[in-house]
Amino acid sequence: DYRRGGYHAVRIGDAFKNGRYVVQSKLGWGHFSTVWLGWDTQKSRYVALKVQKSAQHYTESAMDEITILQQVAEGDPEDQKCVVKLLDHFKHSGPNGQHVCMVFEYLGDNLLTLIKYSDYRGLPIHRVKEICINILQGLDYLHRQLSIIHTDLKPENILLLSVIDPSKDPIKSKTPLILPNSRDKSSIESAVSRLNANMGRETSAAKRAILEREGIKMGSRSTRQNLLASADLRCKLVDFGNACWTHKQFTTDIQTRQYRCPEVVLGSKYSTSADLWSFACICFELATGDVLFDPLNGDSDVHFQDHLALMMELLGMMPRKIALGGRYSRDFFNKFGDLRHIRRLRFWPLNKVLVEKYKFSERDASELTEFLVPILDFVPEKRPTAAQCLLHPWINRIPCSLEPNQAQETQNSQKKRDKDEKEAMEIGMRN
Ligand code: ATP
Ligand code: MG
Ligand code: MG
Repeated sequence: DYRRGGYHAVRIGDAFKNGRYVVQSKLGWGHFSTVWLGWDTQKSRYVALKVQKSAQHYTESAMDEITILQQVAEGDPEDQKCVVKLLDHFKHSGPNGQHVCMVFEYLGDNLLTLIKYSDYRGLPIHRVKEICINILQGLDYLHRQLSIIHTDLKPENILLLSVIDPSKDPIKSKTPLILPNSRDKSSIESAVSRLNANMGRETSAAKRAILEREGIKMGSRSTRQNLLASADLRCKLVDFGNACWTHKQFTTDIQTRQYRCPEVVLGSKYSTSADLWSFACICFELATGDVLFDPLNGDSDVHFQDHLALMMELLGMMPRKIALGGRYSRDFFNKFGDLRHIRRLRFWPLNKVLVEKYKFSERDASELTEFLVPILDFVPEKRPTAAQCLLHPWINRIPCSLEPNQAQETQNSQKKRDKDEKEAMEIGMRN
């Protein structure tokens, strides 16, 4: 992909926009871009620099992304809506062509990394709720205020806010690790080795910082307990590269496979409720560490039918009107609304999956099921909106049902239990 029309080869120490942004390290990448930690020499702060591939198609897509990001930022001057802030944008010419660059506030790790920390066992349920609240706040803002559909909601596109005290965080401390114009080889090399020493080659900066702050050793058995005990997590939605408006859509081919809603698989019309389907998939994944629907990878009828079969095994038969209502319906379903290629469905409802496979208590399982199943309605119009989800008891039961003092006490005793559990485990490990 590092050829004409593709990615720009960025190196540590490279400067962008006439020396304003100096690259410190790599943060991530996607199909459209690479993303870098940059130092903004003008404002003395860290930023994330997204450098788009250069082909015409990517440039056009980046311009749409910028239009949407600007609208998103304009409507949220107080920075309360759980969406990433675009700070600047410009074009950069390189050997592979001209690349649109976007400058964002620097955020932490994505949710997939958080799921990995749990050894794919899922996060404590109160953690899941905290994260869900932020995702829903972001969606409510996009949907209700801006009529924007994200269309690519997945754990990789939701980033944690760094919760670390900046003075203790090597990456947020006020001096950049790589100084602008330090282009001679030896100073770059020494800065890179300082960076690597600080962050570790494999672990990203934010991950490392969070781990250090929580005293977590990678792969240790206490990861789960430590996550449970850490301060409030907050997150924001990123990657508006595929976003559109309800009244101006660019394509029918949206969403990443596992998070794709039935109306999109079937080629029916979609709207903001498509994001809610993805949200429910993410919520399940945070709680269990497993993908909710993991259909066979491929683009033939058989693969799509596999996905539809998984949905029906969990949620029951699709209403005939929905099943037969899409452009591709007849490729997948016969006139009775049965799948053409997959005859026997093994029904396993969500409630039972949570208890039998993921060892949830009956109560936790039924509460989560009551929250998720309506969001996974096959009829898009019947799904609750993000605003309605925020009012659901699963999300806001504790603040509503407890007096402030009681809530505090519950939190304290929970903290004490966690501490005791952690100590017991450490003693156990030492012995
Ligand atoms: P996709 O293939 O999902 O369309 P993309 O090329 O559009 O990806 P993004 O999803 O915007 O790119 O960014 C890629 C990755 O870079 C993210 O998953 C995240 O890990 C990292 N990243 C993006 N923005 C930021 C930011 N503001 N702060 C820190 N890391 C970021
Ligand atoms: Mg992405
Ligand atoms: Mg994208």
